[in-house]
Amino acid sequence: MYDLIVIGSGPGGYVAAIRAAQLGLKTAIIEKYDTLGGTCLNVGCIPSKALLDSSEHYHNAAHSFKNHGIDLKDLKVNFKQMIQRKREVVKQNVDGIQYLMKKNKIDVIQGLGSFKDKNTVLVTKKDKKTEELSGKHILIATGSKPGSLPFITLDKERIITSTEALELKEVPKHLIIIGGGVIGLELGSVYARLGAKVSVVEYLDSIIPTMDRTMGKELQKSLKKLGMEFYLKHKVTGVERKGKEVTVTALNPKEETISLKGDYALVSIGRKPYTEGLNVEAAGVKVNDKGQVEVDDQLKTSTPSIYAIGDVVKGAMLAHKAEEEGVFVAEQIAGQKPHINYLLIPGVVYTWPEVASVGYTEEQLKESGKKYKTGKFPFMASGRARASGDVDGVVKVLADAETDEILGVHMIGPRTADMIAEAVVAMEYRASAEDIARMSHAHPTYTEVFREACLAATDNRALHV
Ligand code: FAD
Repeated sequence: MYDLIVIGSGPGGYVAAIRAAQLGLKTAIIEKYDTLGGTCLNVGCIPSKALLDSSEHYHNAAHSFKNHGIDLKDLKVNFKQMIQRKREVVKQNVDGIQYLMKKNKIDVIQGLGSFKDKNTVLVTKKDKKTEELSGKHILIATGSKPGSLPFITLDKERIITSTEALELKEVPKHLIIIGGGVIGLELGSVYARLGAKVSVVEYLDSIIPTMDRTMGKELQKSLKKLGMEFYLKHKVTGVERKGKEVTVTALNPKEETISLKGDYALVSIGRKPYTEGLNVEAAGVKVNDKGQVEVDDQLKTSTPSIYAIGDVVKGAMLAHKAEEEGVFVAEQIAGQKPHINYLLIPGVVYTWPEVASVGYTEEQLKESGKKYKTGKFPFMASGRARASGDVDGVVKVLADAETDEILGVHMIGPRTADMIAEAVVAMEYRASAEDIARMSHAHPTYTEVFREACLAATDNRALHV
């Protein structure tokens, strides 16, 4: 009898298994695919970042090296090698998880897990053989799959999801992206940098619509410079393929039909929780009408010995959110009293410039009626940004009008994905904008932009504007 059986080896599941093993719990993990690591390591965070980095190198070599005094001859993309490198990066990462399972003495069972009852999981292996595991506690960490629209037939060749976009055989000539969220924009950036024409069709009036509005506006400006074009407030009504040509039709804000022709259409309208084949009913676990496993504040399902975490439950679909929840469940089972501050889970978009946010957006503060003050500082005024040539972007700090406590930080600019960590620490310790403004930040670094934005929020006393 295991103390904990984890179903799904994504960042939620494998981290939960490691923490459980660290705490002395006898732990098993079940994964239906041959490799561990889930969406994030195999077809998500890691491969997308590998391609983002490779395409950024190319883009810089093609567009900024000359200005830096570096002349190149015969620069070209070897796309096959780029994809091969991405595969190797994925392999190093997934092999690393296998190693960690072994090191922590976690039993790894390859196969599809499904509930027999609330303490028993049936694992069906590739050769159809089955194995039964029993556990005092079971954790559902089965993640998510790409979502689509009912009228779209994903042929996975030319009408594709993010999974196929990470394994293309050629750089598209014209990639039409349906959905201007994080995944679409990251993959759109990859191909725009490699020379594709990229058109983004978005139903709402802004890209990355769930983030602070300033971020969407600024990012759109930068991505336009990259050559990407945007069709906001456009409702996609059809996606058809004829041979190598894909046609996307949409209704514009005047309700007129427009049509875009390209060679690939990427459907990136969001992801849906995944519980197929899990037979949750047998364990009395409830799934809501969005397909999410229902959990309470302690991440317990309707059957208290069964927990669920990550993309398969409510909340942001982010790897680090899944990890936090994995640690939370393991510690709870071991009798500890862990805590997650969901407000302080940062959101990042790995375009260039990068976008990173934590805490409340300005729109949320307005809606709640909270009195706040704003401090902004542009990267254009940073010596470090001018030295590297990355002057697009701004840091916006929102602070309580009375107490000066930081309520939200929204950054777009170079390396903000890393810079946001300082804002998370500050907010976790309930720092005021003035606290950050009074701390020394190394010069010249991008982090000075955050400090200047805090100075601006404190008393409108930024130093370098
Ligand atoms: P998953 O990673 O989806 O893992 C679930 C695992 O469960 C899978 O391996 C699946 O095979 C397995 N499974 C499912 N059902 C069963 C079953 N019945 N039996 C056995 N195994 C089963 N997030 C970030 O934070 N940063 C990023 O930069 C980022 N980039 C992304 C880029 C892309 C292109 C995509 C698609 C996603 C990205 N994400 C990113 C989101 C991130 O990948 C997810 O939030 C994260 O993987 C969720 O982790 P999880 O553990 O909940 O589930």
